Amino acid sequence: LTSRLRPFTATIFAEMTALAHRTGSVNLGQGFPDTDGPPRMLDEANAAVLGGMNQYAPGPGVPALRQAVAEHQRAHYGIDLDPDTQVLITVGATEAIAAALLGLVEPGDEVVLIEPYYDSYAAAVAMAGASRRSVPLAEDPETGRFGLDLVALRAAMGPRTRAIVVNSPHNPCGTVFTRQELTELAEVAREHDLLVITDEVYEHLAFAPAEHIPLATLPGMAERTLSISSAGKMFSLTGWKVGWATGPAELVAAVRAAKQFLTFVGPGPLQHAVAYGLRRELPWVAELRDSLAAKQHRLAEGLAEVGFGVRRSDGTYFVCADIRPLGFTDGEEFCRQLPELAGVAAVPIQVFTDQPERWRHLVRFAFCKRDEVLAEAISRLKK
Ligand code: PMP
Ligand code: GLN
Repeated sequence: LTSRLRPFTATIFAEMTALAHRTGSVNLGQGFPDTDGPPRMLDEANAAVLGGMNQYAPGPGVPALRQAVAEHQRAHYGIDLDPDTQVLITVGATEAIAAALLGLVEPGDEVVLIEPYYDSYAAAVAMAGASRRSVPLAEDPETGRFGLDLVALRAAMGPRTRAIVVNSPHNPCGTVFTRQELTELAEVAREHDLLVITDEVYEHLAFAPAEHIPLATLPGMAERTLSISSAGKMFSLTGWKVGWATGPAELVAAVRAAKQFLTFVGPGPLQHAVAYGLRRELPWVAELRDSLAAKQHRLAEGLAEVGFGVRRSDGTYFVCADIRPLGFTDGEEFCRQLPELAGVAAVPIQVFTDQPERWRHLVRFAFCKRDEVLAEAISRLKK
């Protein structure tokens, strides 16, 4: 294994999911829903397979899907995109992120990550031969919300800083950046002429009154922002791995240059079904969001009753909890023991950071599960 990849051998999700299986635990570690996406989308995928759409899709993605992504960005955010040059379909958001870094960042450049960060960012930065600087989110002790630390962000800027990766709604903290935070971040990006890569896979899973605002809609940001999203979280179809990147044509072209030699193209039939979903199933997504908001509330309440120090979550699938009130100190150790102790799996936050000591008291629970599964997890934890 190369030195580039040596720090990234096994993902924590694989490890904790395997442990959950081995111990018969309720898996609140890896974030994936335990119910299917919109039934009509499943039918559309079937129809595409049986209807002979089984050869390579076009390089940038199935035209109907590129069109649907452009329409979605216009309808929801007022962003105008040319579906031929400003939309690229990828194999999930994961490929879009990796291809963006490979296509847009030079070896030796610095990329700023906001920690905790989704694990693929650091690996993709390393694969691109770049290095990372991480800026921790700051906890508000009053509200338990993790917000942008502007002072730390400014301090991370250096002569080789080329890009910043911004994830909102945020995995694992559940933070939805406010307009104020995004405005401050945009100011830094413009001042330092940064490329901004946004990971918006939870764009429709922000719980009111929190509201998702794409960075590309802020003044002076469209020309420097590559926006990434995915059907996985939007439609509870994480196994489909259909994602997309949108933005200025020259940025999208660079991502495409890398993408064509990673996977060439993604699965065509599923792209047809996602095009249908973007056009017709957004009401289903709104219901999913409302149901997730209720699940967040239920799990947070249960965890608080167990004795965890539950933090604020305004979106995503996730809520973070402090283990110290229960007499534990190290999240990684805690998550390795929890399946044996209680029959529940979670993931530690410190593995998504470069300053593990700062985050070791926190673990992440996923609430994107059926109510009876959440109830079972809470009852096991209470015992
Ligand atoms: N970014 C974040 C923040 C995620 O939580 C995930 C996991 N779904 C991804 C990217 C990867 O998305 P995909 O499965 O579409 O590759
Ligand atoms: N995005 C999901 C999570 O954060 C799943 C990630 C994965 O399995 N790679 O749990």
